[in-house]
Amino acid sequence: MTETQILENKLDVYAIRQQFPILSRDVKDKPLVYFDNAATSQKPRVVIDALSNYYQQYNANIHRGIHTLAEEATMAFEATRDSVQAFINASEREEIIFTRGTTEGINLVAYTWGRQNIGEGDEIIVSVMEHHSNIVPWQILCKEKKAVLKVIPVNEEGDLIVEEYQKLLSDRTKLVSIAHVSNALGTVNPVRRIIELAHDAGALVVVDGAQSAVHLDIDVQQMDCDFFAFSAHKLYGPTGTGVLYGKKRLLESMPVFLGGGEMIKEVSFEKTTYADLPYKFEAGTPNIADTIAFKAALEFTSSIGKQRIRDHEMELLSYATSRLTEIPGLKIIGQAKEKISVISFIIDKLHHQDIGILLDNQGVALRTGHHCTQPLMQRFGISGTTRASFAIYNTKDEIDIMISGVKKAIKMLS
Ligand code: PLP
Repeated sequence: MTETQILENKLDVYAIRQQFPILSRDVKDKPLVYFDNAATSQKPRVVIDALSNYYQQYNANIHRGIHTLAEEATMAFEATRDSVQAFINASEREEIIFTRGTTEGINLVAYTWGRQNIGEGDEIIVSVMEHHSNIVPWQILCKEKKAVLKVIPVNEEGDLIVEEYQKLLSDRTKLVSIAHVSNALGTVNPVRRIIELAHDAGALVVVDGAQSAVHLDIDVQQMDCDFFAFSAHKLYGPTGTGVLYGKKRLLESMPVFLGGGEMIKEVSFEKTTYADLPYKFEAGTPNIADTIAFKAALEFTSSIGKQRIRDHEMELLSYATSRLTEIPGLKIIGQAKEKISVISFIIDKLHHQDIGILLDNQGVALRTGHHCTQPLMQRFGISGTTRASFAIYNTKDEIDIMISGVKKAIKMLS
């Protein structure tokens, strides 16, 4: 890249920050430094406006009404489905199922495909770095079906040990369910390779995209995953809505999930028939407002471009990593070969919760604890970490504030 191209490509972070109203508030009389983006990102004004515009201008239930408001709401809701299809490059819009988020998407697969296809002695593989949302549904299923849950280990750096994964695969393996990116370590897993190996063994693959959809380019066709679940709220969108992508032939062959309105063709006491995709899996009134506003979040992300988002966040990650390593007694947990902008650390003799509280007193929002990955914490022999996770609107100045906050906390607590 030439110098001019680099400059043109450079993000105007301060202009982006103006689009996030919450970033101008104070916390404990200090300007907010929000580093809890892996838990949920903040929302740009376009998303907040889309949400309130729906309620102010065309609030109505979707799909069944013939009046103008119902038609407008239906069109806006379905337009989000088209945007999601383009965002993850799914080949058909029917492959996009709206859910409450990643957790519901994974549960949907477990309760439908899982109940139909998993039997006694079958094996499901997950990794030790999974979020509880990608462990517990499979544990429930395995218990019910007398199936076996197998676990891929990670090395000290936080990389999956692919050779160990290969050893776990067998003709008993029916499913592999894996995080694209770890929320606790930031590790980017080699999903393409994991999927290839699973398919060679005759198994399907669910990808937990909760942490990847906002940072990485997602192309479900190229990835060749069978299912891909993600949440809008980690992607500058609203809470309470998300997506399960599934290959059409699989979704068609699966039994229904929740029963009720919207998911039926005809109901009688003798026999009920079900709607076609995607409505077959969308029982009841969905989260209309948030799903409509999700489109604005996707457009916001695409208008900046994933590559520019990534370049900016990687610069922050590398700066934060080098500044944190200067601090004596601080250890970074998770130094994988490929990472997104998540940095987890522990400090000798100090409890992560105390650090979190002292940093909050300085206006810095960090996440502390096990990050819904207790088995991973057990693997590293710790009860939790302090985690900073960066988004498009964060700056190096904010990292400096965090660093001096951490140093102050160490002084106060030692
Ligand atoms: N999987 C991963 C890797 C996550 O980080 C999270 C949330 O933190 C989830 C799943 C669950 O997402 P949600 O709570 O939006 O359903």
